This record gives sequence, C-alpha cells and structure tokens, in this order.
Amino acid sequence: MSDTYFSQYPNDEGFFGDFGGAFIPPELQPHMEKIAAEYMRVSCTPEFIEELTYIRKHFQGRPTPIHFARNISADIGGADIYLKREDLNHTGAHKLNHCMGEALLAKYLGKKKLIAETGAGQHGVALATAAAYFGMDCEIHMGEVDIDKEHPNVVRMKLLGATVVPVSFGARTLKEAVDSAFMAYMKDPENILYAIGSVVGPHPFPLMVRNFQRVVGDEAREQFNELTGGLPNHVIACVGGGSNAMGLFSSFMDDPDVALYGVEPMGTSSKLGQNAASISLGEPGVIHGFKTMLIKDAEGEPGPVNSIASGLDYPGVGPEHALLNQLGRVTYESATDEESLEAFYVLSRREGIIPALESAHAVAFAIKLAKGRKGESILINLSGRGDKDLDFVVDTYGYG
Ligand SMILES: *Cc1c(COP(=O)(O)O)cnc(C)c1O
Repeated sequence: MSDTYFSQYPNDEGFFGDFGGAFIPPELQPHMEKIAAEYMRVSCTPEFIEELTYIRKHFQGRPTPIHFARNISADIGGADIYLKREDLNHTGAHKLNHCMGEALLAKYLGKKKLIAETGAGQHGVALATAAAYFGMDCEIHMGEVDIDKEHPNVVRMKLLGATVVPVSFGARTLKEAVDSAFMAYMKDPENILYAIGSVVGPHPFPLMVRNFQRVVGDEAREQFNELTGGLPNHVIACVGGGSNAMGLFSSFMDDPDVALYGVEPMGTSSKLGQNAASISLGEPGVIHGFKTMLIKDAEGEPGPVNSIASGLDYPGVGPEHALLNQLGRVTYESATDEESLEAFYVLSRREGIIPALESAHAVAFAIKLAKGRKGESILINLSGRGDKDLDFVVDTYGYG
C-alpha cells in the first residue's frame, strides 16, 4: 500500500483524496505556496536534516524509549502492551517534534516571529521552547477556559519568553484560539510563521507536521523489533488533530499485518456538544482552511465540542485521518472521559507513569482491545505526561 500511498497522498494541491487542500484567502496563497515550496526544497537537504537530527538528539533527548507495560499486561492476561514514551520527549509531549521542525523551517524562511494557538497548552509550551532555542519572538493564543484549566503551562510559556494572548469569544477553547491566532498571522504573513499545532490547517501543514512527527514511528518500529524480534499486531494512538497518531502510523502504513487504530474522545456522550469524535460522528466540511470530517451544529457551522482532555477538544481532524478512515487502513474507535480517567489512574498506579489525559484515551482503548488476545502485542503512543492534568484531576475526581 505504502509506495503508492505516500506517492499518491497528498497530491500537489495538498489533497488526501477528498480531504485537505488549502481553502484560504487569496492574499495568503502566495505565502502558503512559498512555505510549501521551501519546505519541499530544504527538508531534503543534508544541512536541514543534520541540524534537525542534532536537535532531536542533543536538545530533545531522543530517541525516547519503549516501555513494556508488564503489570497492566499481566493484570489483563491478554495481549502484551508496550508504550512509546513521548512523555519523555523534552517539554513532556510529542509536540516538540514538529515545533522544532517548523521553527527550523522558519529560520530558513527568514521569519522573525512564531504564532500559534494552543489547547491544553502543550503546543504553546513546545513552540515557545522552539522560539527560545532559535531566538525568535513567539505569540500564543489560548482560550480563557483553557487558561484557567492549564495554569502551569501558561506560566511555562511566559517563563520561556512567549506572549500569551487570552481568547475571550465563543466557547473560549481551542477552535476560537485558532481563529484568533489566524487573524494575528494575517496582519504580517511575510515575517511570521503560523506554526500549526497538529496535522491540520491548509497545505502544506498536514504533510509537514506528519513528516516531522514520523521520527516517533521510525524509532518505535526499530525499537519494537529490537525488543521483541518482530512488529506489533496492533498500533494505537489518540486522535485530536491527529499528529501523534500520524507520526506513529506512517512507519507502519506499509505493513498490512499491523492493524492501526485512532482513538477519538467520546466525552460524556455521543450527543452534540458532549464529545469531539469528528470521524465517528462528524460529516465532511471545511474548517480553518482545509476540508475534513467535522462536527457541525444545526446551521452546518463547526459545532460545540467537549473532552476531558483539552488537547483533543477540536471539532475537526487532520485530513489524512479522514482519508485513512475512508480507505479502511485505520480503524477509528473512541474512549469516553470516564474510561480515559480510569486508564489515567491505572497507568499511574500499575506502571508508575502518569499519562496526559489525551494519551489516556489510547490506553483506555488498548485495555479493551488486549482482552482475550494472549500472544498478540499492542504498541501505544503515550503522547504526553500528565503533570499538566494533576491539579484538575485530583481536585475534580480525587485519587481514583
Ligand atoms: C496535543 C496533544 C494531543 C493531541 O494532538 P494530536 O495532534 O492529535 O496528536 C495528544 N496528546 C498530547 C499529550 C497532547 O499534548
């Protein structure tokens, strides 16, 4: 599948089948085309590859390890569960992988400032870190609801020298933060790079972010083989915009015997406004400059969403996921807030790893899938650590 897959998708206009593309104002088009052309050109040069490789090893602390979750696997008595430890990547999540790549590209493009939105604050922290490393200005837009919920990350961004812009309109979460960051970017696209936080947005971002995240899958494939002498039967990742999932999936796309699963947030129910399961419950539509599966309200506009995990709280999803669902290469499942919370406690207590609530969605589904599958193996992308969620979880739900 893969040779044809990767040469076919995305096409030159950035379409993954019916999805993706660049639905942007005409004045932005030359800027996006320049970013795409420069990315295609420089990302293959030895200098770019060498600098990114150096950064990953000496600044980010890569490769991150794979951990065999012995205790949980024994408790379940089914498939063996392994975790790719992106929680140990510098700044505590997978997001720095694409932020360092985007910032490096910004340097090549001669940009002076990085702008982005953030939900849980992880992308904001990662981008502020990248901006500090490269000596660039950084402006992060964040919904007021998330600012209250994710206070430690707001403090981190400010310490790292970024300006945090509170977003006070609409639902005051991730979608509005994107709208706000986009408006700020439009004022000076010549000198600013809008460093999108996932495999979303107009072409070339879904392609670029996927390729920067692929380091996760390439490492994991080799490490898993070294540990077990083979490939996993099942590969699982949570899906918000879908960058940690695409990073891991990309390296297994070519292996038809490896089943891939994306786990969407089912919140408190499948009713509109109580989840953010865009593929499971959405329909085709356009948001933030690209076509994808979208949760819509009665008027057909991007609808209200909710998840216990701020980083998954987005009405759209990366266009490549919409395609992979259509092709049947990836199976999209979901986990509720309650199941994810349970997985959060279980992983903490039984493995000594406190996961991000986002990552706990993948763990929750893995625990279900593992049952009755003795002799099989599951690889999970543990996309981030739970430090940012501690106060919220313990204040709201106690110690489990
Ligand atoms: C942001 C975030 C996610 C969701 O983003 P994707 O692009 O879907 O990967 C998942 N896990 C963690 C820890 C995050 O910070």
